[in-house]
Amino acid sequence: MRKVSIFGATGSIGQNTIDLIRRAPGSYQVVALTGASNIKQLAADAIALKAQIAITADEARLSDLQAALSGTGVEAAAGAKAVEEAAHRPADWIMSAIVGAAGLAPGMAALQQGTTLALANKESLVCAGKLLLETGRAHNAVILPVDSEHSAVFQALVGEPMEAVERIIITASGGAFRDWPIADLAEATLDQASSHPNWDMGQRITIDSASMFNKAMEVIETREFFGVDPAMIEVLIHPQSMIHALVGFNDGALMAHVGPADMRHAIGYALHHPARRHLPVERLDLATIGTFEFRAPDDVRWPALRIAREVMARGGLAGAVFNAAKETALDGFIAGHLKFTQMSDVVAQTLEVMDSHGGHIDATMTLDNVLETDHLARKAANAAIKKRAG
Ligand code: NAD
Ligand code: MG
Repeated sequence: MRKVSIFGATGSIGQNTIDLIRRAPGSYQVVALTGASNIKQLAADAIALKAQIAITADEARLSDLQAALSGTGVEAAAGAKAVEEAAHRPADWIMSAIVGAAGLAPGMAALQQGTTLALANKESLVCAGKLLLETGRAHNAVILPVDSEHSAVFQALVGEPMEAVERIIITASGGAFRDWPIADLAEATLDQASSHPNWDMGQRITIDSASMFNKAMEVIETREFFGVDPAMIEVLIHPQSMIHALVGFNDGALMAHVGPADMRHAIGYALHHPARRHLPVERLDLATIGTFEFRAPDDVRWPALRIAREVMARGGLAGAVFNAAKETALDGFIAGHLKFTQMSDVVAQTLEVMDSHGGHIDATMTLDNVLETDHLARKAANAAIKKRAG
């Protein structure tokens, strides 16, 4: 039986992963499941899947988790350290699906055991791509992409020489506001930003799709994961979300990955890699769909895309600053302290402040430096938010 652990098990990616695991009874032995505030879901899944241990990131919820697991034989633990420790428990396949920079330390710990890491947590690649990949290499670990665009690129590259790749095109649906008049964006509400036209995802990534910060992160993720020059990466608006990415080769061929907007495809590909197995996703009927639409992205509507280019040009720890500023600005929007359009202002300003206060962006990339930079950038971003609110 294959041993698997799922970090961020209670989230949207985590639940889709559990759906696939449950469909193959007897094939998997579940080691660790982690969550945060949704103790009921975490405990229910841990019991149903007979996990060794369930961990909540929220220390204050330990007694709730212990109560929910009492007499079941499933161990309970709590706190960020316990989450990280669980990533050292031997497993053959580990899903990294915590949201945000909190996914970095457990992802690093998982790689240190030389396992296969299915990486949905794009934030860890944006913060510390080089460190993550080097750690993976040093321990003979395998990192497989779970983000749909990156899984699509990965699949289009099977058997192809990287030297022949001219460009990588990742598509974007355009999110909730792709057709709104730009002048109305400043007044976009939390509810409006939290509903995605095509994908059913966690709230944070859904808002990031509306602001295009998700795609901005994915451009950086593409650069880190595939090691290509930023100039080779393009973003294409494709409202239907059926072509997830295209790889352009030096003979003019474009290899497109086409599939339904269902994350169980990319999760399942990473779960069964290098094999392909039957997956319970819709089969597209292209004749009924009829047409695929494409548009060029608009830097005025979505400043996040321009900011991502600047972050890649700066290099070093700029990705860690960018991610922390983005997460803080998103918290500010969710809490009602920032307007939708002010999120990109806060991110741009934080990058400038961190740059002028020197050092952090150029520092060597170690886990401690990344976490320290993350901390300082959150402080700078919060100061920028306060200034706007006050
Ligand atoms: P989600 O909000 O639905 O779930 C997040 C998970 O992380 C939950 O299990 C939650 O308990 C846990 N968590 C939250 N804060 C934590 C903390 N501080 N410490 C430890 N655990 C914490 O998010 P999601 O949509 O499933 O996304 C998860 C990751 O996958 C993100 O990095 C996201 O960008 C990426 N991703 C998601 C999708 C999607 O379709 N949902 C697609 C591509 C990539
Ligand atoms: Mg994606």
